[in-house]
Amino acid sequence: MSTFKAPKGTYDLLPPDSATYLAVREAISAPLRNSGYGYIETPGFEDVALFARGVGESTDIVTKEMYAFETKGGDQLALRPEGTASVLRAALEASLHKAGNLPVKLWYSGSYYRYERPQKGRYRHFSQVGAEAIGAEDPALDAELIILADQAYRSLGLREFRILLNSLGDQECRPVYRAALQEFLRGLDLDEETRRRIDINPLRVLDDKRADVQKQLTDAPVLRDYLCDACKAYHEEVRALISAAGVVFEDDERLVRGLDYYTRTTFEFVHDGLGSQSAVGGGGRYDGLSEMIGGPALPSVGWALGVDRTVLALRAEGVELDLPSPTSVFAVPLGEEARRALFGVVTRLRQDGVAADFAYGGKGLKAAMKAANRSGARYTLVAGERDLAEGVVQLKEMESGEQTAVPLDSVVAEVAARLA
Ligand code: AMP
Repeated sequence: MSTFKAPKGTYDLLPPDSATYLAVREAISAPLRNSGYGYIETPGFEDVALFARGVGESTDIVTKEMYAFETKGGDQLALRPEGTASVLRAALEASLHKAGNLPVKLWYSGSYYRYERPQKGRYRHFSQVGAEAIGAEDPALDAELIILADQAYRSLGLREFRILLNSLGDQECRPVYRAALQEFLRGLDLDEETRRRIDINPLRVLDDKRADVQKQLTDAPVLRDYLCDACKAYHEEVRALISAAGVVFEDDERLVRGLDYYTRTTFEFVHDGLGSQSAVGGGGRYDGLSEMIGGPALPSVGWALGVDRTVLALRAEGVELDLPSPTSVFAVPLGEEARRALFGVVTRLRQDGVAADFAYGGKGLKAAMKAANRSGARYTLVAGERDLAEGVVQLKEMESGEQTAVPLDSVVAEVAARLA
């Protein structure tokens, strides 16, 4: 062990578990890549003001959880706590929305940072795969994203997740609801910080997880009763399209999410095997965000799914992903001459696209065979002086133990044929 440990609230992805993380990223992004979403990568840090304005000055993410710092050059930056603001910033900066093909559909995958109180499922460094569809107001786009997330989770074998759906209204109807909610909340018995929240962001109070707060919220006005006709029709269409796709969801009028930029459609994916950190992903429509960060009006919708929690959900359901063994062939040389010969064979196998590995470090037969076993290889190639004198190597099928002598100069073709 070294003097150093991974920083609090973080963990390292190590083999063999790390293969599951890669597979999860792959599974989440596959439906997106198949649906017209192009890959985008943005820096791990941005101007702190982008998040303050985009995510919201009063949100926990901005006030408490952001890794903000000043550079030696005097710039105020922050490690990204989420993806949407950065992706929209990048799309606007590159004028992707002016290329005449809206919506601009983008997907991303990367690390995010929040200074949170660490617990199971909640880390200070975590990974998301996300998708954003920028510049179109169309219920089918909202539906598409929800359907693709459902498809991604299902392709991983997850079953015990639920989709919660709500509409947060728009600039016309939300203010009316907001005022009604504020009036209701002011009549409750709440602590000072929560009272302050009533003024700044009353919808967030609905999200309060404390039982004594939730108890008082039973009769709170619900946004659904305040939605304007346009928002109502939009939401009904989203619901109809998702249902027609056979995707099951639950209406949850309490769902507000922790970011300020959402309008109309909002949704969350929760998994029932995860305890308190049950949200595996979430998203929604953010029609006002572009203008909030200085861009033109660009109605958009997106989601981000957490990779870490998706892996926890797989474990909670006992799902074992069917991951191919990383190594197909393992070479075990006995002696100096065999080392050169088999190293050449391994190199040629790799050039032919066969996953091959080698017993390095001059191991004896026993230790080398142990390594071959551990590698999960289907075949082992063993060669000693006598084999080489006869111009052969021993090709052993690990499962049956069956061993055949194969001429050295045809072993690459023989292995490739057997694996095909
Ligand atoms: P949010 O933008 O907060 O809704 O986050 C979207 C998804 O990212 C969540 O549903 C989680 O799966 C994941 N996520 C957010 N914060 C954390 C965290 N601190 N640790 C692990 N995963 C997180």
